[in-house]
Amino acid sequence: MPELYVDGRWVAALAGGRREISCPADGTRVGDVDEAGREDTEAAIGAAHRAFHDGPWPRTSSRERGDLLLRVADLLERDKDVLARFESSDTGKRLVESEYDVDDVVGVFRHYGRTAAEDSGRVVDTGNPDVVSRVVHEPIGVCGLITPWNYPLLQTSWKVAPCLAAGNTFVLKPSELTPHTAIHLMNLLAEAGLPAGVANLVLGAGPTAGAPLAEDPRVDLVSFTGGLSTGKLLMAAAAGTVSKVALELGGKNPNIVFADADLEVALDFALTAVFLHSGQVCSAGARLLVEESVHDEFVDALVERAERIRLGGPFDEKAETGPLTSAAHREKVEAYVAAGLAEGAVLRCGGRRPDDPALADGYYFLPTILDGCRRDMRVTQDESFGPVLTVETFTSEDDAVAIANDSIYGLAGAVWTQDAGKAQRVADRLRMGTVWINDYHPYVPQAEWGGFKQSGIGRELGLAGLEEYRETKHIWHNIRPAEQRWFAG
Ligand code: NAD
Repeated sequence: MPELYVDGRWVAALAGGRREISCPADGTRVGDVDEAGREDTEAAIGAAHRAFHDGPWPRTSSRERGDLLLRVADLLERDKDVLARFESSDTGKRLVESEYDVDDVVGVFRHYGRTAAEDSGRVVDTGNPDVVSRVVHEPIGVCGLITPWNYPLLQTSWKVAPCLAAGNTFVLKPSELTPHTAIHLMNLLAEAGLPAGVANLVLGAGPTAGAPLAEDPRVDLVSFTGGLSTGKLLMAAAAGTVSKVALELGGKNPNIVFADADLEVALDFALTAVFLHSGQVCSAGARLLVEESVHDEFVDALVERAERIRLGGPFDEKAETGPLTSAAHREKVEAYVAAGLAEGAVLRCGGRRPDDPALADGYYFLPTILDGCRRDMRVTQDESFGPVLTVETFTSEDDAVAIANDSIYGLAGAVWTQDAGKAQRVADRLRMGTVWINDYHPYVPQAEWGGFKQSGIGRELGLAGLEEYRETKHIWHNIRPAEQRWFAG
């Protein structure tokens, strides 16, 4: 069966291109999929454009759209095992993590299924009894949705669910490395009753299959999650058609540990913050700021535990984390570590590939801690997107805030202290879209997610996430029209 989904049908790439997908844990072949070229994406945009302008979907009631999303949630739950296995095979992440991810995806569809029906606009009091004035929400139109490889289905759900809730049509371009759960999602959307042409899927490389989504005047919004440099390219391209742009980009997220924190708990979470999914998490706590007085005991204990983290493939039940996504990505992480050492960072553990021959066919990299870092180093400023923790120290509350905010990014951060007042003061001053106090990583679809500064534009999740996919229109209705005779009366 071909793997591009256009106008409600599975079709092969027009130029006949194919791509092999392999598991980064051991190189096993997961499958071959169609590789779209520009002309395929343009055909998909055409289908989404027709479905928006001539089809029934944008005119369905928000209640009907909500009901459809709730049906999709049920189908995702039914197919959880299949989806989790696909996700783990494509990404190399542990099966148990993929299962959590599918649960989250179900939660996102349920959230927007319920929210879609709730918020139907408002009546505005103009002070004039002869006027009825309403503010209503309308879909934006055709949306180009471009997603990354680290949480393929979850990142897709953060876009597809609010996009459909608002009544839009879309073309989805997932990462070329991890297409399988997106393929399955198209089948579930059709099974739930979504009309043909509303959801379209193109697979393939960004510059060919993805780029038209930011360039084509028939696309009204491009919503992208991925790296900063790609985000800048897309934003510049979208300027050509003044297409709306929503960007969720990277982060270099500070995890701030004060001496008065519960250090045992902070230590445990510091490991999860940075080494979950081998650091391939946009909100990874990859920048540890620890109060100078507890630096030695904290970092020694951290190193001792990081050295014991067990690496392995998705179906190895003893594994605690998996491989990096590709050979190219591992090389990028290796170059990042080498650059950090060259500028004076001290390697405390890891910094290389594992010796275990059982891991030799995967793109593994050992959990790595670079101590003795300073805010003026590239290694504390750049995102590695791998299992690499940089350690800096601070001496006061002001110092911690100043170091943490010294970044082009502003996605997320955490503060650990048992002093509730200090926790709130620091959280208030951090220039980040999400701040955790005495925790790391949790999110709920009811609350907004997004970045300050160069971490992004706009918000995903929550009500603001839905707003990204809507236009707002003011309808002024004069219910007693009469001649005014301003001119030549
Ligand atoms: P990437 O920017 O290379 O790719 C992301 C997507 O964009 C992929 O589908 C890719 O094919 C596509 N793409 C690449 N070049 C393109 C182009 N010229 N035109 C159109 N599409 C193009 O990023 P990645 O390496 O896949 O993902 C890792 C990055 O994503 C990290 O920097 C990470 O921080 C970020 N990320 C951010 C969040 C968030 O919520 N803020 C979530 C996950 C990942």
